[in-house]
Parts: sequence; structure tokens; C-alpha cells
Amino acid sequence: MQQGINPWASSQTVDVGKLFSEFGIEPMENVVDRLPAVPSFMGRGIVVGHRDYGRIADAIRNRMPFNVMTGFMPSGHPHLGHLMVMKEVVWHVQQGGQGYVAIADREAHAVRGISWEKCREFGREYLACLYALGYEGKTYSQSENNPLKDLAFEAATKINFSDLQAIYGFSQETALAHAMSVATQVADILFPQADCGPAPTVVPVGIDQDPHIRLTRDVAYKLRMFLVEVRDGCISVRSKNAPEEAIDAVHRAFPGSTRYEGHVDIPGASFAPVEEAVRLIEIDHGGFGFVAPSSTYHTFMPGLQGGKMSSSVPESFISFWETEKDLKKKVMGALTGGRMTLDEQKRLGGEPEKCPVYLLNLFHMAKDDAELAEISRRCRAGELLCGTCKKETLARTQEFLRDFTERIDEAKDLVEG
Ligand code: SF4
Repeated sequence: MQQGINPWASSQTVDVGKLFSEFGIEPMENVVDRLPAVPSFMGRGIVVGHRDYGRIADAIRNRMPFNVMTGFMPSGHPHLGHLMVMKEVVWHVQQGGQGYVAIADREAHAVRGISWEKCREFGREYLACLYALGYEGKTYSQSENNPLKDLAFEAATKINFSDLQAIYGFSQETALAHAMSVATQVADILFPQADCGPAPTVVPVGIDQDPHIRLTRDVAYKLRMFLVEVRDGCISVRSKNAPEEAIDAVHRAFPGSTRYEGHVDIPGASFAPVEEAVRLIEIDHGGFGFVAPSSTYHTFMPGLQGGKMSSSVPESFISFWETEKDLKKKVMGALTGGRMTLDEQKRLGGEPEKCPVYLLNLFHMAKDDAELAEISRRCRAGELLCGTCKKETLARTQEFLRDFTERIDEAKDLVEG
């Protein structure tokens, strides 16, 4: 297993640069210019990388269909550490995407041993949070979605135990249900295309979730009937497991093409229209025609004592339902990027980029970029002292939680069951 990217680890650090170079994740700045407007989570450098996000940016700009999909594992109450993905999903829906949100109850039951009743309770809380942020789209629980279970079975035909061992470090002691929950997660990501037809689909995730994305892209590829590629200067459509009639249909669809055993060559054609036509032929012949899913990767807001915010470590996160007393204790007791003495702080300034309090503002609490820039400037200049900064951050957080929990209460009626 590649160190530092086990999606089920509760505490970890991720070397972003290494993931880019080793696993082919692209930096976000390569693609943001293709968006009509840059959301703050990209502008502030929280979402740092992507796979194939160009497709999504183009779909947004050209008002073409696309999906945004994510899943939440209901292993505890939702908290501030989940808010970034929720905001990303809601933003993409607002840009015209069809939303899909899975409550990964099978995963919570298989991996964390959470009872089905608790899964339902926590799942409803996640959905209420999403609706409170303005989410409009489809939602489901893995355990109640029969077409998803069929798709998971199909996906499982393309996953073997050596994949699970290499990607996740599965051992002989790993429960079979855990392996089944991996196939279910792969199916979650492909489900929007099975539900509504092939379309670009973005999955906003934390950078530790990349193993799921890589596995799903691989399975999506393996489930395709055809491979479309440029060979010897012409477009070649190769059968991977297509029936003869489907290969004939590709040949008929492109006058001037040549039919060979197992492939069709199309001279003088462009890649994108061929790929699209082949996809439709594939679907006509009972195939999936999946577009490889795209992804974005966000970094993590650290816990106020450092490390990752995690549902399994209560002191590491800020709950949406934190009492005033506990919230004050957590914010005022947080680590900072301040200096050892008051004199040094005034003389040298603080180091906001290393400071969990600053990052709390950067991720969620500073409403506009000018406010955030001013916190950073005052900190670096030694004008802002950590005690004052924490009090100001506490006030912003209190205001945010008051408003958000009110909206969650109002949204509870939108959650079914
Ligand atoms: Fe962090 Fe604020 Fe202290 Fe700067 S002044 S180091 S941002 S707590």
C-alpha cells in the first residue's frame, strides 16, 4: 500500500507534491482559467489538484450536461471537516451539474461496524447539512439502492484481490464485506452515468480518497466495449469485448472507415465526435459507455490541535452542534503559528500558513477574500496577536454555527425517512 493514502486511516499526513508526481494528479491552476468563475475553495488554494477536470470546466462553460457525485460515510455526526466537500457539491449543482449524494451506510457498517439504525440517524444529519447549504439533487443510501447493488456486482467482476491488496493493503484478515464495500463505492461513482446516461462526472474528494478514484477509473475503462485511440495518424476504434454487430455498427456510422478483425480505422476524423458516437453505439448494444470520472482533490483543514479532523477523535473536530463552552475551549486552546514571546511576535510577525486558527478562517470562517488577506497581513506584520486573533475567529465561528444550525433545523423536513 502506498504510504499516507489509506482512505480509512483516521490520522495521516499527505505529501501533495509526491502525489502529483507519483500518481498523475494535475495541479488545479492548469484548468481553473477554463471556468467562467473561480469559486473561493479553488481561489484560496484549498482544492489543489484534479484528474480530467477540463471536461467539467468545459461542460460548465458550455452549459453541457455533467454530474457531481460524492458519498458520506455515516460513521458519526457530520462536522466541520465534511463541510468542504458539501460546499463543492452544492457549488457544482449551482453551476448546472446534476447532483448525486450517496450515504455510504454499507461502508460504515462493513468498515466501522456502525449499526444500521445509527447509519440512518447520521445519514439524515448529513443530508440536512447539505440541504441547509442549498443542495438540490438526488440522494440515496447504498443499502436501499438495488440498481446500485447490481452495478457494484458488475464492477466487482473487474476487481481482484491483488488490486485490493496493492491499493488498500487488504490482508487475509480483511472482512469480505469490506471488499464488497469497495465495489459498492466504485459503483457509487459510476452510478450517475448508469442512471442518466454517460456524461462527465466530477467527484470532489479529500486527497486521501484518490485510491478509490484510480480504481474506479480503471473499472470504468475495463467495463467499456471499445477503446478509441489515435494510431498511425487515424482514429482507431478497437474492440475490447464488443459483439460483432457493435463493430459493424461503428463501421456503418463512419463512411470511409475500414473494418478489420476486431477494429475499425477511421481516417480524417476528429477524436471527440468519434468517441461520443462510439459511446452511443456501445450503449445501444447493452454496454455502459462510461466516461472516465473526473475528480478534484482538496487538502484538509487541520484539527485545532494539529493532525486531521476525524469523526473518530472528538477533540480533533468542531461539531456543528458544539456547545458555546466547548467551542471556546477548542478555539482559545488551539495551536497557532505565533512566536514564542510577545516581543518576537511583534518584531517577526506570525506564520499564518502554519496556523490552524488561520486555516479555520481560510477554509470557512473568513467570508470574503479581502477579510482573509487582512488577517494574513496583520499577522505577518506583527500587528495581530494570537489572543486577539483567536477571539475574533471564535466570534466568526459562533456566528457561523448559529446561522448554520438554524438552517439545518429548517432543512430537516426535506430529509426523507
Ligand atoms: Fe495564527 Fe492569528 Fe496567531 Fe497569526 S495571529 S499566528 S493567524 S492565531
